[in-house]
Amino acid sequence: MKKSKKIFISVVSIILIIILVIGIYISTQYSNGIDITQLSPQGSRQMMGYIMETKNDTFILVDGGTEADSENLKKHVDKHNGVVNYWFITHAHDDHIGAMVSLLEQGAVKIENIVCSLNDLEWYKQNEEERADIVERLYNILNVNNDIVIKQAQLNEQIYIDNIKVKILGVKNPEITQNVGNNQSMVFKVYVNNKTILFLGDTGEESSKKLIQANKDELKSDVVQMAHHGQSGATEEIYQLVKPQICLWPTPEWLWDNNLNGQGYNTGNWKTLETREWIEKLNVKTNYVAKDGEITIRIW
Ligand SMILES: [Zn+2]
Repeated sequence: MKKSKKIFISVVSIILIIILVIGIYISTQYSNGIDITQLSPQGSRQMMGYIMETKNDTFILVDGGTEADSENLKKHVDKHNGVVNYWFITHAHDDHIGAMVSLLEQGAVKIENIVCSLNDLEWYKQNEEERADIVERLYNILNVNNDIVIKQAQLNEQIYIDNIKVKILGVKNPEITQNVGNNQSMVFKVYVNNKTILFLGDTGEESSKKLIQANKDELKSDVVQMAHHGQSGATEEIYQLVKPQICLWPTPEWLWDNNLNGQGYNTGNWKTLETREWIEKLNVKTNYVAKDGEITIRIW
């Protein structure tokens, strides 16, 4: 065999081995990822709901939406034999827990674990009476479902589920009296391989400040769930610290366009357009908005 031919075969072999090794590495990483689904509103109101399915098919929900979203949510739960392994609640507003309460009342789902940071019912009655009804319904139905493990999350607690880690970066803030319900939002970060997803719930301005004080260096994340449906939630500083590559917007079309009762673009008082500008300034290329329908992405 000529020397040049030998060299050619050696080079080709090395390249093939490199391609094979890279291929094995990518497929291992990919299969060690999770699927995350952003639900879209089935009713006309804003809502928030996410599904995470881990490597070994642990079924995790984050909030779930309003009562109008319960039927659609049930279809997803039914694909997992009606069992939710972990249900994370960001805060106790009905656009987040309405579907959960409705499904529990119907006996339509079995929940194994709830992770939350909630005040007692009296607190909600005293501080946000007009929205306490859904909390009362939640507590009533949990009282008769005493096989559910309920974890009141602690600040900086780490929870390991299959191939993910969840770290709690923010808990309830009962002392905050402005925007009182939203400022109770539990904030948590999900770690998958080397990627991270930050859930902000409906975090407000005041709880954003506490979040920065407590965990400034840990906010940086690849994916972020936009706070309070992308309107008047969190602060620009929070997003600057998060520096996301992908934004998940639990935002219906009217809110995305700040469109009040169909009167047209930017006719309302919601701050969505301002928040959209913050994100454009950060040069985020990928935005998934709930108005465009349900979407599933793989994080790996
Ligand atoms: Zn909300």
